[in-house]
Amino acid sequence: MQTAQRVSRIKPSPSTAAAQRVRELKATGARILDLTVGEPDFDTPDHVKLAAIDAIVRGETKYTPVNGTPQLREAIAAKLRQRHGLEIPLESITVGGGAKQVIYLALAATVDTGTEVIVPAPYWVSYPDMVLANDGTPVVVECAAENGFKLTPGQLRSAITPATRWLILNTPSNPAGVAYTAAELRALADVLLDHPQVAVLTDEIYDEIFYGPEPMPTLLAVEPRLADRVLLTNGVSKTYAMTGWRIGYGAGPADLVAAIDKLQSQSSSCPSSVSQAAAVAALTGDQTFVRESVAAYRGRRDRVVKLVNDTPGLRCQAPHGGFYVFVDCRDLLGATTPAGAVLATDEDFLAYLLETQQVAAIHGTAYGTPGYFRISFATSADVLEEACDRIRRACEALAPGERR
Ligand code: PMP
Repeated sequence: MQTAQRVSRIKPSPSTAAAQRVRELKATGARILDLTVGEPDFDTPDHVKLAAIDAIVRGETKYTPVNGTPQLREAIAAKLRQRHGLEIPLESITVGGGAKQVIYLALAATVDTGTEVIVPAPYWVSYPDMVLANDGTPVVVECAAENGFKLTPGQLRSAITPATRWLILNTPSNPAGVAYTAAELRALADVLLDHPQVAVLTDEIYDEIFYGPEPMPTLLAVEPRLADRVLLTNGVSKTYAMTGWRIGYGAGPADLVAAIDKLQSQSSSCPSSVSQAAAVAALTGDQTFVRESVAAYRGRRDRVVKLVNDTPGLRCQAPHGGFYVFVDCRDLLGATTPAGAVLATDEDFLAYLLETQQVAAIHGTAYGTPGYFRISFATSADVLEEACDRIRRACEALAPGERR
């Protein structure tokens, strides 16, 4: 079958590909310590599952409004009110099949050939490909480790051109775990106020998995004058361990949300009715699960950060949010393995870890930042300890090469 050009412009998600590779290796009987996963290792809380079962029994098994049930949009509005003091009307909220779909539709609704979208790197793997799939041009801005992997106002100002339509801001971020402070958002907002054609997509999918200081700020609350051009996206996947339920949402200007809804009406019709009922229970029910899971993530984060920084050749900063640690392995590039191979790139290093130690993680090149790799700590403490131990052994076995 001859496919459209937009398909050949994009590649499958590297994290999905890595997860598939791990599944294949496991199927051969290999015991792989998997640090690639981008989803909580916890089960969905019981009260959420029961709400879905109740919805099925009540017969809530039909199409819902395109933009989601009023109950779910009300629950989302309440969350944004309580957490950020935002007053978002229900027609400015849309629910989709995961935050990923909402982001995709937002770009599909606004990007034309030649439209530029600023994507700070390290970036979530899907942003550039989503822009390409919609005929746009991703403008990747490399954010330095020395600046905590954050986009600076100066970088933003120089990246903006008359063709810029969007800035994508992921906070806390995947893979670097970076969260922007209110002051940093304020400084970016000052640049944006000078460029009315630039909208901002703030992807806040990890907002509740946040290690403080509380509360995590959001651009819309920091600068209300941007209200007509900020789309805040979020969902229930990460916070409530609901990745398979596929519920995400967007809150933004009513005209943009209407355009997203138009596309949704002609593609999926609406998100799953049963999953929407579950998401209402997640957002409005008991939040003990969130507190407990975040406490567990925090403990694992502290442990992994220590183990990584105790490993020769590796360095990392403690993430502010999310469940990933982004590790600098640049000092190991050029080193020689016991088998005599030279590790020229982060990809070589990750292949070496997988082959010799059966540890799987994702190379930084996938996130637009070569010389790094991502460890997910959304896995058991035992797996993390053993994996970090093996990574240390792999690093110690290297013969130093010509260091950078
Ligand atoms: N944004 C980021 C930064 C993510 O890491 C993910 C999940 N990997 C998503 C959005 C999408 O989440 P979902 O579609 O499950 O809501």
